[in-house]
Amino acid sequence: DAGNKGDKPWFKRLSLTTWIFIALVLGVIAGVALQGAPDIADTYIKPFGTIFLNLIKMIVVPLVLFSIIAGVVSLDDVKKVGAIGGKTILFYLVTTAFAVTLGLVFANVMNVGANYTMPTSDLSYEPTDPPSFIDTIVNIFPSNFFQPMADATMLQVIVIAVVFGFGMIAAGKKAKPVIDICNALSDVCIAIMRGIILVAPFGVFGLICPVIANNGIDVLRPLLWLIVVAYVAMICQIALVYSGIIKVFARMSPLKFLKGEMPVMGFAFASASSVGTLPINMECTEKMGVSKEVTSFVLPLGATINMDGTAIYQGVCAIFIAQVFGIDLTVGQQLTIVMTAVLASIGTAGVPGSGMIMLAMVLQSVGLPVEGVALVAGVDRILDMMRTTVNVTGDAAVATCVDAMQKRAAARKAKKAAA
Ligand code: ASP
Repeated sequence: DAGNKGDKPWFKRLSLTTWIFIALVLGVIAGVALQGAPDIADTYIKPFGTIFLNLIKMIVVPLVLFSIIAGVVSLDDVKKVGAIGGKTILFYLVTTAFAVTLGLVFANVMNVGANYTMPTSDLSYEPTDPPSFIDTIVNIFPSNFFQPMADATMLQVIVIAVVFGFGMIAAGKKAKPVIDICNALSDVCIAIMRGIILVAPFGVFGLICPVIANNGIDVLRPLLWLIVVAYVAMICQIALVYSGIIKVFARMSPLKFLKGEMPVMGFAFASASSVGTLPINMECTEKMGVSKEVTSFVLPLGATINMDGTAIYQGVCAIFIAQVFGIDLTVGQQLTIVMTAVLASIGTAGVPGSGMIMLAMVLQSVGLPVEGVALVAGVDRILDMMRTTVNVTGDAAVATCVDAMQKRAAARKAKKAAA
């Protein structure tokens, strides 16, 4: 077929999705090949992944800061923010509650702890104290302008952006130059981000290869069933819960949604970081037609507080640890797990490995031995890749639903006004 396609060089004919997928497959193959010599992967391949992730991390704070400021100053009505915010939080909470429940059901039905024999070496895991509920709330409000930017504490960055956005509205005419600058910087950040995303396939290869090289099949074998159960539950969350809300609330074909999200999922899988995946998620969700107004607020918030994959993981691991230690959990205790896992997933930071730290909190809530964390630690990265994939897909699904609902409400209002 010698259509117009022939005008493009061969590497441009494939979409970014295809390239990310190719990079993922090549990375896994190279990782398997290097399992005998993981040092080579760590020394020569990992740096490419790290450089790429560093670039993303560098851009994510200014990107979120300026796009939220630009979003707030462009607001024509405050009621709309309330409506978007309310729907978003509700969707986030309900989908996360579904997620833990799904995790618990699959772990019980598939008997996740079966066939596992405890290692003879003694386990030790020192849990770090999870912050209290009040501290969590207090910590949302930064006492310093620069610290949250330097530490990439997303929730605090969001608060700063909203406060400054409203400050600019309140200052009126005098703020005009700053508003123009913020709008321009928001565009600059988006342009930089697009450039970084172009080289994402190299980043994906550099991230996945060392992980596979370092996690030989020997590490995985004893915990294979745990991995299978967790992956099955997580895939169900995408196939049932997200596809369901996309169909019902966004009135969109779930397949179209999943296709648009493919590069995001591939990148989340390789990087195991929701915050790192945020710029790509914003780009792809907007490409699917979701307005910038919604993505710039709903997605950064989701990357920080909405972690459905993490919630599933915590549910599955809690049952696994209970079964392995021979502890029977009552229905009441399982309900406690649902509640603490929802809270723990909200408190989980969108960086690799943080879900495992919060697992200790879930175990403590029902008196399960926290040393259990040490049992699953060996395969945490493998679980983390999939839970991060679910985490970011959940954010995008909610953004797509909220956007569609907003648009329908606006259309109804316009029709009423015309009548
Ligand atoms: N790595 C996950 C994320 O960034 C969080 C986790 O460890 O569960 O979304």
